[in-house]
Amino acid sequence: GNVIGVFTSGGDAQGMNAAVRAIVRVGMFLGCKVYYIKEGYQGMVEGKDDIVLATWESTSNTIHMGGTMIGSARCMEFKERPGRLKAAKNLVQLGITNLIAIGGDGSLTGANLFRQEWPGLLRELVDTNQITSDKLVTSSRLNIVGLVGSIDNDFCGTDMTIGVDSALHRILESVDEIMTTAVSHKRAFVVEIMGRMCGYLPLVAGISSEASMVFIPEDPPEGDWRQGLCDHIRESSKSDARRTQIILVAEGAIDRSGNSIKCSDVQRVLTERLNMDVKVTVLGHVQRGGKASAFDRIIGTRMGTEAVMALMDAGPDTPACAICLDGIDIIRTPLMKAVEMTKMVGYKMNELNFEEVVKLRGRS
Ligand code: ATP
Repeated sequence: GNVIGVFTSGGDAQGMNAAVRAIVRVGMFLGCKVYYIKEGYQGMVEGKDDIVLATWESTSNTIHMGGTMIGSARCMEFKERPGRLKAAKNLVQLGITNLIAIGGDGSLTGANLFRQEWPGLLRELVDTNQITSDKLVTSSRLNIVGLVGSIDNDFCGTDMTIGVDSALHRILESVDEIMTTAVSHKRAFVVEIMGRMCGYLPLVAGISSEASMVFIPEDPPEGDWRQGLCDHIRESSKSDARRTQIILVAEGAIDRSGNSIKCSDVQRVLTERLNMDVKVTVLGHVQRGGKASAFDRIIGTRMGTEAVMALMDAGPDTPACAICLDGIDIIRTPLMKAVEMTKMVGYKMNELNFEEVVKLRGRS
């Protein structure tokens, strides 16, 4: 049967465990051996105890848990060829010729590069007597499938990444909690939302909470944002019903000139110009914590299942694919095209308008 290695890399996200569980169980059901590669590329480079055979039971009691039970790490060594050579040796020795990478665009770029270099790495391992030459035949090809685990929802080609829905739940719980204390004191709260250069979370959290204003990188405010903020808050505060103001600021929020807008900037403007009592809350890793939502468990499971099926279908010329959500369908899309588009949107954020970014990233 086929031998599959699964690893999680980059930032963790709720729902990664559901994906790993599905990969192990569907893989075993289809007669494959599945190995956990612990601590992402770090474990792949180090080998030994970091690459362990998965059992059905090892995935019990994991589907609800946030984070990743097989660990994740950043790995500088894998970015250099000698690191990837070590990783290739570790995989070949266990007969692993199928990899499922669960991570962000960096992790998937690394996986694709590894696949392209694979024949050359194997030849070098044979030439230096680190593996026997029969492996050139038995391990001739490395199949790669990528799943996108990230709370940011910044990946092009998928409507939702694994983890984003749970992160939204955490944000809404926090904003609702802040509201109860905020209304008691007629205070304003500025909340920083983690998500790098993606405004998806603050935007949808703004729609589904009592927030009065949202700052996101994709749609910087027109004109003088400080004046616009004061005008809006002054107007909105006239209503007796509104005893508090909540302003959500994306981690990557910028103005029209590309200068960042930080919570502390918003706080200073409201304090100095409107004489308000303003508190700042940075949600940070709270967003990545807690249980996986039903949605993330389901897309994790569906994407994990599809990843195994894609590996089973892969022929010699099948390019690496990413498993994505398209509407309600789980689809396969060329991995590198999606990664390149994701990077392009990141670089060109200042030049693209809101509609263009939304179109490139996917429907959500
Ligand atoms: P997140 O969205 O959470 O940041 P990511 O997958 O983009 O996830 P990175 O830190 O960019 O996170 O990448 C994770 C790991 O993937 C790196 O530590 C490195 O080992 C590997 N990697 C990233 N980019 C490359 C690359 N160009 N070549 C080889 N390996 C890479």
